[in-house]
Amino acid sequence: MANHLYDALFGRHEGSSADFLILPDGARVSHKDFSARAARFAGALVAAGLKPGDRVALQLEKSPDMLAVIAGAIRAGVVFLPLNTAYTASEVSYFMSDAGAKLLLCDGRAAAALAPVAAGCGSRLMVLNADGTGSFAGLAATAGPVPPAERGADDLSALLYTSGTTGRSKGAMMSHGNLLSNAEVLVDYWRFTDRDVLLHALPIFHTHGLFVATNVALLAGCPMVFLPKFDAGAVIRHLPQATVMMGVPTFYTRLLDDPRLTLDLVRNMRLFISGSAPLLAETHRQWQARTDHRILERYGMTETNMNTSNPYDGDRRAGTVGLPLPGVELKVCDAAGAELPGGEIGVIEVRGPNVFQGYWNMPEKTAEELRADGFFITGDLGLVDGDGYVTIVGRGKDLIISGGFNIYPKEVELALDDLPGVLESAVIGAPHPDFGEGVVAVVVPEAGADLDPQALQVALGDRIARFKQPKLIAIREGLPRNTMGKVQKNLLRDDFRDAFARSGSQGGF
Ligand code: AMP
Repeated sequence: MANHLYDALFGRHEGSSADFLILPDGARVSHKDFSARAARFAGALVAAGLKPGDRVALQLEKSPDMLAVIAGAIRAGVVFLPLNTAYTASEVSYFMSDAGAKLLLCDGRAAAALAPVAAGCGSRLMVLNADGTGSFAGLAATAGPVPPAERGADDLSALLYTSGTTGRSKGAMMSHGNLLSNAEVLVDYWRFTDRDVLLHALPIFHTHGLFVATNVALLAGCPMVFLPKFDAGAVIRHLPQATVMMGVPTFYTRLLDDPRLTLDLVRNMRLFISGSAPLLAETHRQWQARTDHRILERYGMTETNMNTSNPYDGDRRAGTVGLPLPGVELKVCDAAGAELPGGEIGVIEVRGPNVFQGYWNMPEKTAEELRADGFFITGDLGLVDGDGYVTIVGRGKDLIISGGFNIYPKEVELALDDLPGVLESAVIGAPHPDFGEGVVAVVVPEAGADLDPQALQVALGDRIARFKQPKLIAIREGLPRNTMGKVQKNLLRDDFRDAFARSGSQGGF
């Protein structure tokens, strides 16, 4: 039976004893062993009662087994939702019920907190630990493997939840065809072959580490040095063994801070790729001075996979995200969707086989952002220069990107406004030397209330994931507003422009 994505990514390597994963301790996982594990996980999903099209939610630590569950879900035709491990139980509860997930897989340590969530959604909870133990692994051992389910290019493969500007996250529906077509283009554009070794230190609950990095490596047939998370020391230890690294800008700024980053360390490397957030032109220059490599910056998003990339052979221009990828149409439009002349700033719209199928269960949101002619309104503001290079100048939706993670101010504002004594709040991003942007919250107390920023921080602790929590909370008597009553966030951004200038790094990636 044909399974569009599984056959192309995993099926073709099934009998191969070549390395797929190289682990931090030097252990290796062959394609053959990985595929056998994936086939058993597919069997476990079927044994747990999931049928093609059903949803499984995964809140798991990055591990070879997490990847094998994803491969198993694709094999079984089960739609998977990878969830950030930082999400709280109440956030997981929203994703589970919105997606109607039948099964939640989590680490053993989280099981007690998540059991009521699964029960509340009428779903089953099973454990899969990063070391390969847990009830789901047990079921996989007894259930045995199942053959790939029949799936075509238009069938759903994954639901990736984006943050919602109104506090509600949206499940971006990615089809088998969306994912495979984009990976095929990238392998070619970035010249991947089976002689490459990809250094993989990104999370695999997000499109960058999951679809861009992993799918490209699988399609090229090259192994990945699979690190559980970004750690400058570990990356430096493994760079001599790699030929390509994909990272968010924070990876590059952190590595530049380390004196062990030398020309000799990167002698085996052929390509450094950056994306998910703007790479400062300054970082681009510093990287070239230290390593003699020009970072290749690309631009994409959850809903569209990758849209543009700087060229492999041609000019990689710092501060731009390059040219539309083959098969991707990109235009800059006004709010009504009329295309603007070259060089003018407007909203970037994209169309192509990479663009998602719409938002799960949200036809009205889908209609707002995905035009009938197939163009997706990205919400990013940008321009195209005379040579076709795209520059992103801002984010229409006030998205904050901190350490490569997206934070929608509205969600943090809603959590703050809900706290006793808070009248209102405005959340902005301020330049941060380590994270790109750091979250700043300006909070206005109710009359007579005495607010303590530290107490507000603590109160936010179990409401929103750690990466979304403000690094600075300032108490103000009021918020600046224009005559239309809108909060003037640009004035707040000016006020807090230097808030993190001297603070150095805080927290972890
Ligand atoms: P996500 O859906 O998490 O992948 O976030 C997508 C958003 O990240 C895009 O809409 C852009 O605003 C931003 N983004 C991704 N890559 C870049 C880049 N190279 N430069 C600037 N912004 C980027």
